[in-house]
Amino acid sequence: MPPAPSQLAYIPFVSVENMMRFIHHFGVEQVLIELTDAIEADYRRWDVFEKIPRLASHSRDGVIELMPTSDGEAFSFKYVNGHPSNMAKGFQTVAAFGLLARVDTGYPLMLAEMTLLTAFRTAATSAMVARHLAPREAGVMAMIGNGAQAEFQALAMKAVVGVKEVRLYDIDAKATEKTVRNLQGSGLRVVSCSSAQDAIEGAHIITTCTADKAYGTILTDNMVGSGIHINAIGGDCPGKTELHRDILSRADTFVEFEPQTRIEGEIQQMDPSYQVTEFWRVLTGEAEGRRDARQITLFDSVGFATEDFSALRYIHSKLQGTDFFQQIDILADPDEPRDLFGMLQRAA
Ligand code: NAD
Repeated sequence: MPPAPSQLAYIPFVSVENMMRFIHHFGVEQVLIELTDAIEADYRRWDVFEKIPRLASHSRDGVIELMPTSDGEAFSFKYVNGHPSNMAKGFQTVAAFGLLARVDTGYPLMLAEMTLLTAFRTAATSAMVARHLAPREAGVMAMIGNGAQAEFQALAMKAVVGVKEVRLYDIDAKATEKTVRNLQGSGLRVVSCSSAQDAIEGAHIITTCTADKAYGTILTDNMVGSGIHINAIGGDCPGKTELHRDILSRADTFVEFEPQTRIEGEIQQMDPSYQVTEFWRVLTGEAEGRRDARQITLFDSVGFATEDFSALRYIHSKLQGTDFFQQIDILADPDEPRDLFGMLQRAA
């Protein structure tokens, strides 16, 4: 939906309220399915994207990150924080917004809230990877960490992978109660568990999604049997991991963009010679995914800029003909390009 030059001063802004209206209009699971396909389509053209590890500003309590990328035609960036201590203060651990722009003029195309959109794109990315790597007919998932991301993760695995049962565990029972409540009526069988060990009983997919700025061991080696797919999304920052390194020694590990994951992912615990596969290579057939039913596959997810790009483009592509946005004049655009000062004077 490229706007005509005369309209360029106004761009659509998708607020939190409008993002929620958008999602309810199209349906949570439908958005998750379509977003999974959009993210996968961009992973399949990996080479065209500009890729750098995200810029991270670390502080005692958390991190603020900028995540840019471009496919040569469009550019996007996301501003996102990660503050595990926020929850105790009544704030979100992760909050975000993002911008999509044209590369030819450098003019922005859309500004959007991305706190909800990040939860959707993270769940869609998990599901995209799981539909290629999880054991066949994976019907049961364990969800360890029942915070803000949890329901999105469970619903994406249901909608895209066909999961039927989710087994929940969180150190805070209130978080599990909230997730049980929110997933009522979703069509998932929801089981509340008393420990991580209990939660992974019979699970084909284990998602770890906890938030703690520490080297955690949510899963130890003796807990993980053969044939499992692990979707580790909570460890996404230097000094923040969820898995014991012995699990990594037994698993085949798949990552988004290796230079970023080496800094932020579970593999920060491993020697630089530890072998990983960038997931796009599985999609294009250049690398093997799951080889056999006994293999442990691990998606060491940290979140990568192309996923946000795909999500912003997906939202932008569906805005036309809807009222799920406001027009904002974020850009000063005088009729005579060199007469910026004249524009200011005429407004007096
Ligand atoms: P949140 O703070 O809302 O929830 C985290 C939950 O983990 C809390 O309910 C907490 O009680 C629980 N928890 C902490 N330690 C635990 C333990 N040892 N065992 C079981 N549960 C434990 O956070 P969120 O928004 O759900 O995000 C979770 C994590 O995922 C964060 O670390 C965030 O940075 C990360 N994340 C990653 C991606 C990605 O793309 N990989 C995207 C979004 C968020």
